[in-house]
Amino acid sequence: MLKDTIIIVKQEPDGTLACWDVELYQCDNCSKEFDASIPHYADGDHHYCCECAFLKGLISENEYLDYGSGFNSHMFRAYVENREVKIKYGKYTPEELRQRRNKKARERYQKKKKARGD
Ligand SMILES: [Zn+2]
Repeated sequence: MLKDTIIIVKQEPDGTLACWDVELYQCDNCSKEFDASIPHYADGDHHYCCECAFLKGLISENEYLDYGSGFNSHMFRAYVENREVKIKYGKYTPEELRQRRNKKARERYQKKKKARGD
């Protein structure tokens, strides 16, 4: 939600004053505050920080990584574990690694079974 609008005043080197409005938002989920220049998810009057938007499934993993985390989506994976966002280096999430290991183990077992002639 929009929490406040503040006015920033800056004195330029030549002595003139520059001022502009900055909108401050508060995440509707975790109450974290951020200004309009911070990437976030907005839907009407609802504003969510990137982490909450990813947790709620409002933005994709790549959007979260590239705009909300500072990690590169080509080298990192983001996933949800115990209702928390986790980031890891590499191609696969722990769940995907587990599934791949299980699949390989099943394939090895089937091969051995065939070789034994069962
Ligand atoms: Zn939040």
